[in-house]
Amino acid sequence: QLSSRIRAIPEPAGNAWEIYERAQEMRTEGIDVTMLSIGDHDTITPEPIIAHMAGAARQGNTGYASVPGMAPLRAAIAERATLRTGAAAVAGNVFVTPGGQFALFEALMAVTDPGDKVVMIDPYYATYPITIRAAGAAPVIVKADPDNGFQPDLQDMAAKLPGCRALLLNTPNNPTGAVYSRDTLNAIAELCQAHDVWLISDEVYDGQIWEGEHLSPRGLPGMAERTIVIGSMSKSHIMTGFRLGWVLAPEQVVNAIWELAIATTYGVPGFIQEAACFALTEGDAIEAEATARYRSRRDLAVDVLRGANGLRLSAPQGAMYVMVDIRPTGLSGIAFARKLLEEHHIAVMPGEGFGQAAAGHLRVSLTLEDDALVAALRTLAGLAGA
Ligand code: PLP
Repeated sequence: QLSSRIRAIPEPAGNAWEIYERAQEMRTEGIDVTMLSIGDHDTITPEPIIAHMAGAARQGNTGYASVPGMAPLRAAIAERATLRTGAAAVAGNVFVTPGGQFALFEALMAVTDPGDKVVMIDPYYATYPITIRAAGAAPVIVKADPDNGFQPDLQDMAAKLPGCRALLLNTPNNPTGAVYSRDTLNAIAELCQAHDVWLISDEVYDGQIWEGEHLSPRGLPGMAERTIVIGSMSKSHIMTGFRLGWVLAPEQVVNAIWELAIATTYGVPGFIQEAACFALTEGDAIEAEATARYRSRRDLAVDVLRGANGLRLSAPQGAMYVMVDIRPTGLSGIAFARKLLEEHHIAVMPGEGFGQAAAGHLRVSLTLEDDALVAALRTLAGLAGA
């Protein structure tokens, strides 16, 4: 029999991957499917980053690399974190990981014991329940109401947080595009302090802000010592396949993760680290260009979808997705997504894959160039009225 840790891992919610898998299958059958279902870019990593990676490998950086991350990269991440979280960070607060996803897992492994409860907000990034379970902990769900801009229900949180070990937060949010306000974050910070809870703050979309400002709970009074920030190069610098992320945490957590890394990854490849270091220190224009592209696509999507055929939309305040509220059609997200795929060859993610609160929604990734994106969104809106 497999371990209880593995047996506790839940099935992906609501058959969400059915659409994605069917889309892949259709592609192998030669059908031209428009993929708006996953959060990967439609362009490849910018050439200067690739050139830097290849150069580093050719110059010999192909051996075992520094396990916590090479010093200049940790320093560059600390500098970025100081600016973006509003609380001073040093290299010793940074641990480089193979992607933000592994950073999440390591953070949970470092601060939770088997059976501990971890609060997450529904709708949630699809891997959260699996990651919490794989770390041996158990998810506790707090809802974010679609009719309240997908902001977390603070009363529900206040009721459920006592006795929990950690709270997993994601702002800007995937899938909803919600960005949490200062008041919300202050209230959450107070709850974490009152109940002695670790805050794991997933900030992989921290640069993609369309309305308001990104605030990291790490920057709030008394929070730096109980906050673990998850960061990543995937979205900001079009580097999903490089698998480079980080944990930003108090040094005792960084040291714990160092032990875990010795037991698991043994570090991120040196040539990847060098590419990331280059991108962080000299790639501001690359990040600015990628961000501007998603901003203009987000504006286009809001223009096309808002009010079209009675669809409702909470315009995303951040991140690279729009959540379309199809409840007026009476169809579930899965039923609508199936129809859209079979009849129009457009793949989107049914909201049900992100939890109960996202039922009756579709998550559309803004991962297509303007004209094709507008055409796909018009088709989606047309189907809502059919
Ligand atoms: N967290 C959120 C909210 C995400 O949307 C993603 C990727 O889509 C990740 C973490 C993981 O990113 P990566 O492992 O590519 O750094």
